[in-house]
Order: sequence, then structure tokens, then C-alpha cells
Amino acid sequence: MLDCGDEEVRAFAEAMVAARENTVFCRECQNLSEQELCPLCSGEGRDRTLLCVVAEPRDVAAIERCREYKGLYHVLHGVISPTRRKSPDDIRIKELLERVGGGAFAEVILATNPDTDGDTTALYIARMLRPHNVRVTRLAYGLPMGGHVEHADGLTILRALDGRREV
Ligand SMILES: [Zn+2]
Repeated sequence: MLDCGDEEVRAFAEAMVAARENTVFCRECQNLSEQELCPLCSGEGRDRTLLCVVAEPRDVAAIERCREYKGLYHVLHGVISPTRRKSPDDIRIKELLERVGGGAFAEVILATNPDTDGDTTALYIARMLRPHNVRVTRLAYGLPMGGHVEHADGLTILRALDGRREV
């Protein structure tokens, strides 16, 4: 930054401010978006019966990199964590239940990280979805225990998707 000229730094700062001002939460998937409906939700060729639930926007980017998954997403913006005092009300579970309650989804894939908080969150959501008569699966094989979806390569995510199981 110190090597850049004033103009460059100013342009960078303005770009950051503009990015923040133009960013909203997609009204469907809750991902960060520049429009009310993000490109993934409004895009053609997505399987609208399949919903993948992730903790963070960067997890959407990681799964999109594997180019195999063609369904929709739901971003929770966090996980349930007793140690970090995050309750179900602190993340976007209510919005998820409303979406699934609409009845359009045949399967919900829980793609939170395979660690304690990720598992807790997945089990909680699976329980809440039970009355909805929808298949609920969890990413299983491929992801290392304690690993992170965002750091996984495309092949690993692909295997994890293939190996998902009912919860
Ligand atoms: Zn969206």
C-alpha cells in the first residue's frame, strides 16, 4: 500500500466503499449479492429441487468451483456454537425453514463443516426439517474431520457430494 500512489489508494478505497454500499443479502439464498436476487438464484439451468445449506458465502464459491453441483444454495451466515454463544436465532435458519416450507425442494444437503459446531448445526437443521417431508443429507466422505469446505479442492467436494447420506 505504501508503494502505491495517492490516486491508486484513493481508487482502491472508493472501490471498497462502493462494493459495501452495493452489497445486499439475496432475498432467497441470503448470499451476498449486488441485486435483490443473486445470479445463482435467478440463473438458468439450476436444479430448483436441490438445496445446499452452507455456513458462509465463501463455501458457495468453493462448491461452485467443483462445477458438479447444479442446485440452489442457502447461506446461514454462521453456525450454531454454544462456546461462541451463537444460537439458532443468530443465523439464517428461520429463512431456511420458510424456503423449505414452500415445498419446492426434494432434497436438502447440509454442507456445514465436519467439526463440532458444523455437526451440531446440521443435526439441529435436520431435526427442524423432519416435519417437511424432504430428503435431508449431509456431506460425508472426502472432507477431512475438522476440515473446512472452503479449503477443499473441487475433487474433494465432489466426493463429499457423491458420498452424502441421510441424516
Ligand atoms: Zn440467491
